[in-house]
Amino acid sequence: MLIIGLTGGIGSGKTAVSDRFAALGVPVIDADRLSRELVAQGQPALAEIAAAFGPAVLTAAGELDRAALGRRVFADPAARRRLEAILHPRIRAAMQERIATLTAPYVVLVIPLLLETGQTDLVDRVLVVDASSQRQRERVRQRDRLSDERIEQMLAAQVDRATRLAAAHDVIDNESDLATLDSAVAALHANYLKLSARS
Ligand code: ATP
Repeated sequence: MLIIGLTGGIGSGKTAVSDRFAALGVPVIDADRLSRELVAQGQPALAEIAAAFGPAVLTAAGELDRAALGRRVFADPAARRRLEAILHPRIRAAMQERIATLTAPYVVLVIPLLLETGQTDLVDRVLVVDASSQRQRERVRQRDRLSDERIEQMLAAQVDRATRLAAAHDVIDNESDLATLDSAVAALHANYLKLSARS
């Protein structure tokens, strides 16, 4: 099965694109969603996180306090690496398990940090959703009501646009409106079906 790795910066439109693939009947596996499942109560990864970072990253009910964990690792690269060492191998294994259950011409893996975490070996093609940083800022600001400072920090924590584009086999330009996105996804879908029939 052909494996497409979909990535892009914050607010570039990864969810908008993956929703459109899903609507065309394509299986979509989302690394962020898997990550949230892996830290649900009772999961071994949650116990490991609590052991590594202490009870301050749990809510009173014993669930992961994502905001507290985010604050804990944001400015501390060693802590961030420790968290990644707990989560990334599990996310990777969970993605591979799900892929193994599928029968489809191709699958889309949504991995926001595909390039940053060096996971391109998992995929056959890298699909980048591209938008200018101006558009990214506008969309994130409107969707999440985050401060400008927080948005700038998030943008700075990701690879830059040129690096991402250089790693792409395919690019979806998402600078324009959603109708334009519909046709871009439909065209790629036709292309991926062709490619998967060939391999
Ligand atoms: P994140 O990395 O932050 O999760 P994302 O890359 O998944 O973001 P989306 O959530 O798909 O990005 O898009 C960000 C916001 O911009 C959403 O509110 C979405 O509805 C909107 N959006 C995406 N593409 C377009 C478009 N072409 N026209 C108008 N709005 C758009």
